[in-house]
Formats: sequence, C-alpha cells, structure tokens
Amino acid sequence: MTPRIPKRMAGCPVHGGLAVPEVAARHRTDARPPLFGINHPVRVNTLLIGKGCGNCGQRLSTRPGGKYTVLLRPGDVTRGYTGEPALHSECARYAVEACPMLNGQMSGYRSTPRDLEAERCGDPQCDCVLWTNASPDRQARAGAPASPFWAAVYRQEDYRLHRGDKGRHGDVLLGIALRGVEWVSCRKVTSGDLNILDLSRALLMGLPLD
Ligand SMILES: [Zn+2]
Ligand SMILES: [Zn+2]
Repeated sequence: MTPRIPKRMAGCPVHGGLAVPEVAARHRTDARPPLFGINHPVRVNTLLIGKGCGNCGQRLSTRPGGKYTVLLRPGDVTRGYTGEPALHSECARYAVEACPMLNGQMSGYRSTPRDLEAERCGDPQCDCVLWTNASPDRQARAGAPASPFWAAVYRQEDYRLHRGDKGRHGDVLLGIALRGVEWVSCRKVTSGDLNILDLSRALLMGLPLD
C-alpha cells in the first residue's frame, strides 16, 4: 500500500503513487521518470541555504520554538554534519513510510554501481549531465550495507550550515551542522540490526538503540 501523501507535499509531482521530494533529481520533461534516490546538487544547495524542506520545498519553521527534523546515520553524527536538507516532521514521517532505504525494506545498496550515465536523456536543455556523473561518494556506497537512519528533531534556532575547510574543500557548503547541537528528541526509524561499526558509532554518539 502506498502511504498517504501529506498536505504539505500536495504540490509535489507524483510518480508511481509516491510524491517526488523537492530534492530529487528529475529531467526537464516527463519523458523519463524522476530519480527518487539521487539528489539534485543545485536543489540541495538552494534548500540548505534557504532553510527549505527537502521533501515539500517549503520553508522550515522560523518562529521561536519551531523545530526541524533531520534523517541521519551514525556516520553523519560522527563527522558532524548531514548533507541532506532538513524536513518538516510530517514530511519526515512520509519519507520514512515511503522510502525503502529509510524504513529498512531494502537492506543494502545496489551491489553494482547504478549506471548513472545511462540515465542521461540527451535533451540539451536538461541539466541531467550535472547529476549523472558517478561521484566517488556514490561509487563508495555501491555494494556497502545500508546504514540505518534515525529521525532527530532540533530547535530551528540551532539551524546552521556546515562548510568545508577553506584549504581542503575550498569553503564549499557541505550541509547542516550537527556537532555541538543538541537534539530535542531522536528515534531510530530503520528496522533491523546494526553492524558493528554503526553500533559503536551509535553508542559513542548517544543515539538510542530502540
Ligand atoms: Zn535529462
Ligand atoms: Zn516539508
């Protein structure tokens, strides 16, 4: 059964019964399906900087006491940031219901790297050349066991961007800072056991195990 699309995501295109997240890569025309698992780099940056929700694209709360949700892996917490835009709570709930990588129905990444170049549509006005080159990160993930995810809720006052070292990364925007920021609540959303690396990271960073 496909999960019910939340009100906030009513403006998103729908593919196969699922709302396409704002952050997902898609071609200029509908001739080819959107790519749920691939983030569009320009969309990511726009959302991070504009404090937008990665699912519905609307602004996250800016009122006093407002919150945002981050879907994070133990490795994100140890490195101190997440590269994914934050979400409204109802948009995060929908992501967990709809995405097999998040809810644990898919236990690992593809064993062979997805042939992203084959996804190019050939439309000269489409920007898919941008997001179809195989990045080292995507290569490294191929075949690795999928990390489990937690949903952590933060105060909107704590939202700040994380940039790379000027020397090493050229001051590039990497994501939302997690280091030195305390979550209001945090719960594990992916079912199944943790591998030893994720378990030790989770214990080290105080992520709840049930
Ligand atoms: Zn294209
Ligand atoms: Zn949202």
